[in-house]
Amino acid sequence: MKSFTYERPNTPAEAAAAVARTPNAKFIAGGTNLLDLMKLQIETPTHLVDVNGLNLDKVEATPEGGLRIGALVRNTDLAADPRVWKDYGVLSRALLAGASGQLRNKATTAGNLLQRTRCPYFYDTAQACNKRQPGSGCSALDGVSRSLAVIGSSETCIATHPGDMAVAMRVLDATVETVDAKGGERRIPIAEFHRLPGDRSEVDTTLKLGELITAVTLPKPVAGTHIYRKVRDRASYAYALVSVAAILGKDGSGHVAFGGVAHKPWRVEAAEADLPHGAKAVTAKAFAGAKPTEDNAYKLKLAERTLAAALNQARA
Ligand SMILES: Cc1cc2nc3c(=O)[nH]c(=O)nc-3n(C[C@H](O)[C@H](O)[C@H](O)COP(=O)(O)OP(=O)(O)OC[C@H]3O[C@@H](n4cnc5c(N)ncnc54)[C@H](O)[C@@H]3O)c2cc1C
Ligand code: SF4
Repeated sequence: MKSFTYERPNTPAEAAAAVARTPNAKFIAGGTNLLDLMKLQIETPTHLVDVNGLNLDKVEATPEGGLRIGALVRNTDLAADPRVWKDYGVLSRALLAGASGQLRNKATTAGNLLQRTRCPYFYDTAQACNKRQPGSGCSALDGVSRSLAVIGSSETCIATHPGDMAVAMRVLDATVETVDAKGGERRIPIAEFHRLPGDRSEVDTTLKLGELITAVTLPKPVAGTHIYRKVRDRASYAYALVSVAAILGKDGSGHVAFGGVAHKPWRVEAAEADLPHGAKAVTAKAFAGAKPTEDNAYKLKLAERTLAAALNQARA
């Protein structure tokens, strides 16, 4: 067992400062991802900064007519919040499609955004993985890549962002709010929060060292049918092979983001104008430049069919 120290700060700025000043320190929230990674010694923090006491567990209305979701709001509570259920149905549905009831009771909004990939080679410490150990290589490139990315990948990594919630937040144009060690605040549009792997696949997001997520803000609700469709190997307790988060009018116009296909939730706004022309037209644009492997080329057709099913659902 690797030993580590632990502290429970009282304010967000104290928490950010604690992580910034201690080499290899990590925040811990629900622990449902971090503790698993620590048990496998994939993450080996020397110091844990517990953010559970920071009073960031409320969902509040914003003056702009939206919602501000505290970083510590549990996935179960967020999915069941009557305002989210009524006005941001795509988010409720995405959350309820994730993990299991027990996990959602612990998992937090910030932790969910920052969960790490489920690439099987990332979890197997006997295999080369640039994300786990930069410069070691990528076993997935010549390995089994059925669940991995079809677009936006690089020569060093073809992993996907595995989450459901972030895909809904992408279609809702959410903003991530942070505080840093000096108390400075930042608002990061969700489109710029997760990054593509490039030649630094170990870096999942644009957060800086010690930067703490305090909240996620949603703009005022967008009218339309809110749909989250997730295609997976089992009916529950499984990650998306492909998912579609959509807000659609009866004529098919609206907004759409895809999950399970890239290192970040995948949304191409320019493709949305084609929604009334059907799924094929949209996915042709949204996945232009895709580089699937032999194992995962099926995802392109699956994305088209999943979107077609969402469009049919909205028309009905
Ligand atoms: C068996 C299983 C099945 C699952 N299935 C799904 C699924 O189908 N869909 C899905 O979306 N998810 C799924 N998950 C993942 C689950 O949703 C995540 O583990 C959970 O959301 C992480 O939240 P947490 O609060 O427990 O994060 P933690 O494990 O506490 O932290 C995760 C990361 O976030 C960082 N962090 C936490 N809070 C902050 C903060 N405020 N600011 C900055 N950094 C922070 C931590 O340092 C850590 O790096 C599954 C998990 C398991 C174990
Ligand atoms: S795809 Fe990424 S996470 Fe998977 S083995 Fe390659 S470098 Fe590691």
